[in-house]
Amino acid sequence: MPQRPYAIDQLISAKAIAARIEDLAREIAAEFAGTDKLVVVGLLRGSFVFIADLVREIDLPVEVDFLEASSYGDATESSREVRILKDLRAAIEGRDVLLVEDIVDTGHTLNHVTRYLLTRKPHRLKTIALLDKPSRREVDFKADWIGFSIPDEFVVGYGIDFAQRNRNLPYIGKVRFSED
Ligand code: 5GP
Ligand code: MG
Ligand code: MG
Repeated sequence: MPQRPYAIDQLISAKAIAARIEDLAREIAAEFAGTDKLVVVGLLRGSFVFIADLVREIDLPVEVDFLEASSYGDATESSREVRILKDLRAAIEGRDVLLVEDIVDTGHTLNHVTRYLLTRKPHRLKTIALLDKPSRREVDFKADWIGFSIPDEFVVGYGIDFAQRNRNLPYIGKVRFSED
């Protein structure tokens, strides 16, 4: 990958993302008002741009941490196994935690990671994803906040890659192959 030439069509502009993040950050700050220090956890690597913009709009004391989960690309459809490749540095027991993801697709990743984090007994655990593809869901997972709901398209940009490229695009684009 990438196997063939492709073009990228803009789906969500940088301006629209920034405006949506301002609203989301206000809701998050209201939800966690009075917290001592919110632990904002980014799921590597796709969330790195989103978390960077999001925390700068959240008017609360925050700590930033990261967690990396394996994709289940090589697992069978039925097992959909998700493994933790890089764990948190922060101890989250009794603390307020916001888990930040790029895309909820089948729902397996966030379903697994939230269950995993809940075993650490946080005081509160909420989830946010920039993008949601509800038509692709295989497990019943609902994030507390979603930036944008999108159709079943392969997207890149704003931290999200295609074979480790295009993460540095400032907008969300959909990939179109030349034969399309
Ligand atoms: P889920 O476990 O919900 O199926 O998987 C979510 C993960 O699949 C996302 O965090 C992301 O890494 C990947 N993914 C889902 N849709 C897309 C897409 O359109 N583009 C890219 N690059 N990754 C995607
Ligand atoms: Mg991801
Ligand atoms: Mg990826």
